[in-house]
Formats: sequence, structure tokens, C-alpha cells
Amino acid sequence: MNVSNKELLRKEPAGYSRGDELHPMFFTSLLCLMVCLLLLAGCTRGDTMYKESRVLMDTFCTITLVSDSKEKAREAIEAGFAEIKKLETLLNYFSDSSEISAVNRAAGIAPVKVSSDTIEILEKTALINRLTEGAFDPTLAPVIGLWDFSKNILNHSVPLKNDILEALELVDYSLVTIDKDKSEVYLVEKGMELDLGGIAKGFGADRAIEAVRSRGIKAALVAIAGDIRGYGLSASGDAWNVGIQNPRPDAVTDKPWEDISARLELKDRAISTSGDYQRYFLVDGKRYHHILDPERGFPAESDLVSATVLAPEGYLADSLSTAVFVLGSEKGIALLESQGYDGVLIKKSKEVVLTKGLEGKVTILNHDYYLSD
Ligand code: ADP
Ligand code: MG
Repeated sequence: MNVSNKELLRKEPAGYSRGDELHPMFFTSLLCLMVCLLLLAGCTRGDTMYKESRVLMDTFCTITLVSDSKEKAREAIEAGFAEIKKLETLLNYFSDSSEISAVNRAAGIAPVKVSSDTIEILEKTALINRLTEGAFDPTLAPVIGLWDFSKNILNHSVPLKNDILEALELVDYSLVTIDKDKSEVYLVEKGMELDLGGIAKGFGADRAIEAVRSRGIKAALVAIAGDIRGYGLSASGDAWNVGIQNPRPDAVTDKPWEDISARLELKDRAISTSGDYQRYFLVDGKRYHHILDPERGFPAESDLVSATVLAPEGYLADSLSTAVFVLGSEKGIALLESQGYDGVLIKKSKEVVLTKGLEGKVTILNHDYYLSD
């Protein structure tokens, strides 16, 4: 059985958004799916590919799996989506009832009791914050708020520099106190806030994969927008194939995820892409995008237009793709190789830089781009 790319990403009616009403950002998110899946796997007799998409975490989520039983597949897909939904309820910055909002409201006032899931993602975030020497830092939330990339792209302006400098005073992940024994979190300074938008989708893919795998499913792929994790091979032994979106398409299209610049196989790993083309606005021809440099509070200006990271877990790929985008190609490759992870980094110059582990494994499909020597 072959499933085409188009079929795999078939859209379903929107039923959810951040907040209570359908948010304009939802539409942007749909248009901004950055990684396209090219599913070339075949199935042997008895095995069927099952796939379902829903709107969760303010974006388009797809669970694809291989099973010999329709009933088992249905249960596993439900369980996977339930995990994503649960995390969305806990972690949504834009929902007043989320645990993260409760923690943010109590900044500088009191610790807040949270679930073990929230503790776990905050501890993982602490690790990434240290590993990236602060390039990944969700306490950027007050600065992100000033830029407000969620609002209509036409109404944008650049925030005042003084406001950014003031908000930057509150950016410091070491001021997030996590008490695992009491299951409490405390933001030490009044005005501090957390926004886990750069790691929650990858973490969600991890949890959904665990839920599916624990139901005896032998191969699956979970995609939350461009944060993807897969395991297993199809019954015929083919790997999941993943395409990296062209960060600078020639023409305006309502299906940017179908414009692929490179392709690679995904075997028992997670993959995420961060780029300056997903949410941005232009002022006087200058591009202001949604990945911020925590040192300056302005959009990161590295030599990259997109950073794709492959790692054993989704939370790693998600957060590290953001961090590598901030760090640029040289530091980014060094960081990934030091941890045994992989990356496909597309430079402004259209040169594509790979970690050593990916040499010979990435196919360039759009010849505007070229692999570095
Ligand atoms: P997307 O959410 O579009 O998949 P990313 O995974 O790269 O893209 O996450 C970007 C989001 O993370 C931003 O929208 C913002 O909420 C937050 N963010 C921006 N810059 C940083 C940063 N340096 N560290 C941590 N989070 C960031
Ligand atoms: Mg990311």
C-alpha cells in the first residue's frame, strides 16, 4: 500500500484553537507546517496503515500507524491523541486554566502545585537550557509577549527597545525553582513567565508514541506540526521518509509543506525543524521572526534560515532545533555532535550543513540548495 504525501497531510475541519475562539494563529499554523512527510512505506498482507489527524496544541496533529487490527489501531490512536490533549491542557500559555498559567500568575508570590507531567517537562527544559548555555530559554515569555507573533501579521510593529530591555531582566531559567518532592514550581521574580512553545510539541510527540507503543503497535509516526517522532519500520521493511520544507519557496502557496528541499529517512528517532519562515512579519523589508535570541530579545540573526535536528526523543529535537537556530551553524553542529545527535542546517547562503552522522544520508531535492563539502 502506498500513501501519498498529499493523503497523509489531508486537512480536517478545524475544531480547536488556543483560547475559546478560533484564533487567527491557527490558520497560520496550518500554513506553517514546516516538515512534510513522504510516506513511502509498503505493507505486507494483514498489515494496514491507519492515519488520523486532529487539531490540538493549536496545530495539526497526525498519528499514522501500522496494525493488523482495526480495533487495536483505533484504540492506540485515541490513546495517542489523549496524551497530546492532556499536555495541551496543562501547558497552554494562552489558557487561563492551564498549570503553566497558574505558575505564571503566582510569579514572585508563591509556589504552585503542579502535575508530575509539568514537573517533568520543566526539568527537561532545565537540562536543555544548561546544555545550550541559555540559547533555549522559555522564560523569554515576557519578551515574546512584546513581539506577539500570534496577532494578525499586517498589524505588526517592532516593540520599543526599552520595553525589550526591561522584559529581558526577567529572562533567567535559573530563577525557576522546581521542587520535585513537593511537586511545586515557583518563578522567583514578579512578572516572570514561562512559554513552553519551543518544547511542548516534541514532548507531546514523545508521550503519544509511548501511548501507541504500549498498546502493542509495531510501527508509528506522530507529527505535531513539524515536530515528529517515529519508530519501527513498515512490514515490508521500509523506513519512514521525512522531507524538510523549502525555507524560501519561489511562489506563494497555500501548501508550503509540499515544497521540499531535502529528504532523509527516520528510524526510531524524532525530528524537528525551526526556521525564520514559520511566523514572521516584515517592516521596511526586514524580516522579524518568532525565534528570539535570549541575549538581545530580538529575533535571532544567525547564518541559518532553518535548523532541523534529529534526536532520540521529541523534546530534544524540538528544543534543540530552536536553540541551534539561535546559535548558528558552527556552534550548532558542534553542540549536536557533542551529544551524538544529528542536524540538517540550511544557511542563508543556501548551503546545507550536516552533522557527520548524516553524511551520505540526505538527498537534496531542490537544487537551489547544495551540500557543503
Ligand atoms: P514552532 O513553535 O513554530 O514549532 P519552535 O519549536 O522553534 O517553533 O519554537 C518557537 C517558539 O518557542 C516561539 O513561538 C516562542 O514561543 C518560543 N521561543 C522563541 N525563541 C525561543 C528561545 N530562544 N528559547 C525558547 N523558546 C523560544
Ligand atoms: Mg522547536
